Amino acid sequence: MATVIKASCHDCGDVELGVTDLEVRVCTQDEQGTYVFRCPSCQMSVVKPAEPRIVDMLVASGVALVEWHLPAELFEHRGGDPICHDDLIDFHRLLLTEDWFDTLLSAR
Ligand SMILES: [Zn+2]
Repeated sequence: MATVIKASCHDCGDVELGVTDLEVRVCTQDEQGTYVFRCPSCQMSVVKPAEPRIVDMLVASGVALVEWHLPAELFEHRGGDPICHDDLIDFHRLLLTEDWFDTLLSAR
């Protein structure tokens, strides 16, 4: 007998899903889990937080587990002041010159 998983859509209320209708996602950095499915009634994607015991239960039932990690850009060191409107205007003017790329390379 196929496993039936009961979940809730924000708009449609309770829906029944098969194990292939969901995906469990766990962030490798903070171990936060979610489960994701497309509502069989309204076709909207639904994302819900999942505590570790829910993650374990869904995975044990046969739901696919996807581990993901935060983008490396979040951990990059940032230096200097934030970009302002004057910086954008200067950059725009630079792009209008013939040798803008060489100018950028020499600025490093
Ligand atoms: Zn729905």
